[in-house]
Amino acid sequence: MTDSLTNPYRPISPDEKFAFCCHPGVPCFTECCRELDLALTPYDVLRLKNGRKTHSGRFLEQYVIIEWDEQQLFPTCYLTMVDDGRASCVFVKEQGCSVYQDRPSSCRAYPVGRGAARKSDGSIEESFVLLREPHCQGFAEQQQQDVGSYFTDQELASYNRFNDALLALLQHEQIQQGFRPSREQLDQYILALYNLDMFRQEMADGRLSMQRPLTASELQGLAGDDEQLLLLGIQWLIQEFFSA
Ligand code: SF4
Ligand code: SF4
Repeated sequence: MTDSLTNPYRPISPDEKFAFCCHPGVPCFTECCRELDLALTPYDVLRLKNGRKTHSGRFLEQYVIIEWDEQQLFPTCYLTMVDDGRASCVFVKEQGCSVYQDRPSSCRAYPVGRGAARKSDGSIEESFVLLREPHCQGFAEQQQQDVGSYFTDQELASYNRFNDALLALLQHEQIQQGFRPSREQLDQYILALYNLDMFRQEMADGRLSMQRPLTASELQGLAGDDEQLLLLGIQWLIQEFFSA
């Protein structure tokens, strides 16, 4: 039996209804934007840096802390929290999230957590948990939804699509067989997934390359389409890490 006092997570099926609503009128408004470890996916950074019309390298310098230790396979990029005594997210303001249109996937999905596993045929198996934290008053609201309608409401489709595309790298069979990246490969990981503007430049200048001709959509990525460039970055890392 799960004790909700000690374990705030509980598995939830995609069609289970739950009552929840978050809006500026809740007494806890923005409480969840403080004292948190907010890990950013590559697509989160793509959206945030484009929303701010900032070069990816500048965005990483200003807003991201990159952490890695021997226990981890790849580095984790965390959004900076400010030293205001409450460890607030760098983007939270009195009136709410200042990057709301491009807020990260975990902010959108909250209080739902989504797990994704890539099966051998390339399809994705999803699982979900509901996180019920004591400070969150959104559960007292009456609005009913299921995971699907909540994710639609939060415009999570493109986030999930690009996060799932990354699983071809993160859940590659060679990782399951014990692959460990070198220091150089850790840098390549950040470059191709998080520093897209620099990655584009390196590709365009011929310092990095694919061992095969680029597809039409990959060329579109080099020409300025960041979403296609991210997909190219994933393929380039798979080539660099796993091809003999
Ligand atoms: S990005 Fe926005 S929603 Fe997410 S923690 Fe920061 S202020 Fe809150
Ligand atoms: S704590 Fe819950 S209800 Fe309050 S602002 Fe955050 S998500 Fe909304």
